[in-house]
Amino acid sequence: MKIARFKHNNKQHVGIVNEKTGTVTVITKPATIEQLIRQNTKTLDAVEKGAVLKLDQVQLQAPIAHPTKIICLGLNYYDHAKEQNAQIPDEPIIFLKPHTAITGPNQPVLKPKFVKQLDYEAELAIIIGKKAKNIALTEAKHHIFGYTVLNDVSARDVQFKDKQWTRGKSFDTFAPTGPYVTTADQIGNPNNLRIRTWVNRELRQDSSTKNMVFNVYQVVHHLSRVMTLEPTDIIATGTPAGVGFAMKPEPKFLKSGDMVKVEIEGIGTLENHVIEA
Ligand code: MG
Repeated sequence: MKIARFKHNNKQHVGIVNEKTGTVTVITKPATIEQLIRQNTKTLDAVEKGAVLKLDQVQLQAPIAHPTKIICLGLNYYDHAKEQNAQIPDEPIIFLKPHTAITGPNQPVLKPKFVKQLDYEAELAIIIGKKAKNIALTEAKHHIFGYTVLNDVSARDVQFKDKQWTRGKSFDTFAPTGPYVTTADQIGNPNNLRIRTWVNRELRQDSSTKNMVFNVYQVVHHLSRVMTLEPTDIIATGTPAGVGFAMKPEPKFLKSGDMVKVEIEGIGTLENHVIEA
């Protein structure tokens, strides 16, 4: 299933998206996406359905507005580590983003005036469906509910000044997510998906999740040895090569009016424009 959270006639809904017909079927029970995830509901038979709406008549929102936590990986693609001459980590490098950074599809990324080096990072995001602590690698897949797209928006000037990542990646709207949650059963192998970013139609990132240093299952396994993973946790698995600060011959940062489009094969397309706050 592809599960969306959206507004229609000023009311909040959850629904099942059918991309072929361009429609979304309202789910009347359970009423929230968090309940769907906690109940591990992945089939149409398990939900009560309501009206069928046209996708272009609803306003999509970030699928999970209040995740229990957002964990992000740094330097998790071989091609991205190479473009900045960074060493390949032998264990996952992680940091946290606050849920207040989340924004939805087609919503603006707000660039603070004092940020001069705004950048994008296309990332495959794992949605945890079942509590996980110290789980074996072979068990990891059973703890994943699904996937979405996350743009790990970064203020490079702040990030590099601080020498750690929290402030530069935690501004409000610096975690666009969506357009929906695609359940894991729809994806097959998550470790071989094309991942791309365009800025104003210029292709900037074009890689595959097969270039991850720690793949989806290894990430869940490793993180579960650090902290308890809970249903609705979001794990952003790092970005491939092609970010703005590593562009040659010179960096290309985002400015007001730019449109950023991130697409992951089988998961969906997430678009956001930049506005100077
Ligand atoms: Mg990142």
